[in-house]
Amino acid sequence: MIAANLAKVREKIRQAAERRGRDERSIKLVVVTKEAEVEEIREAIDAGISDIGENRVKEALLKHEELDSHVLTWHMVGHLQSNKARDAVKLFSVIHSVDSARLAQAIDKEAKKIGKVQDVFVEVNTSGEESKFGIKPEALDVFLKEAGHLKHINILGLMTMAPFVEDQELTRTHFRKLKELADRCSLKELSMGMTQDFEVAIEEGATMIRIGRAIFKG
Ligand SMILES: *Cc1c(COP(=O)(O)O)cnc(C)c1O
Repeated sequence: MIAANLAKVREKIRQAAERRGRDERSIKLVVVTKEAEVEEIREAIDAGISDIGENRVKEALLKHEELDSHVLTWHMVGHLQSNKARDAVKLFSVIHSVDSARLAQAIDKEAKKIGKVQDVFVEVNTSGEESKFGIKPEALDVFLKEAGHLKHINILGLMTMAPFVEDQELTRTHFRKLKELADRCSLKELSMGMTQDFEVAIEEGATMIRIGRAIFKG
């Protein structure tokens, strides 16, 4: 089932890319495994996935021990507390959820200790919903100016989570906003698009999409 779901997702990625004349290889699929058992993740690995996303450091550490981890690239996609930065930096190749200067500094400090430059995304709250994490669009310039001095983080681009709504055209406006912000700051990568909206995200320029349910619950 997981292999079949993956094939469906990949085909949708291909079609969405084609609609915009994009090379599908410019879109990285991060398979979000927060609701998946280790056995299910193994199935996905056998079906050829390379990148997995978790939203809790503790869970990720447990799964990391059980899985054949050198075949995988690990992504932290959920909210990260500064006091977990140390474990996060050790485990994750990419942290998608940098949402405060304090967290950026904590990551930088821990990365420095182990001689690493940590790839990160800056999470932006494009919808303005109170319930969402992320830096306000109008605060992004100041944030980047501060975080730009940190030598042990490398800002790949911007990340957002669109609100859960039926109307895909409304969703599209949030992804467009993220793309505009990234262009303005000369940032290349966009981490956006989940099960409910990844096709729209690809149409609007996503370079990393984060998908769980369509693969494990589809
Ligand atoms: C869970 C999660 C996803 C994946 O969501 P699905 O709806 O399962 O595709 C993507 N990004 C983040 C930050 C998540 O927490």
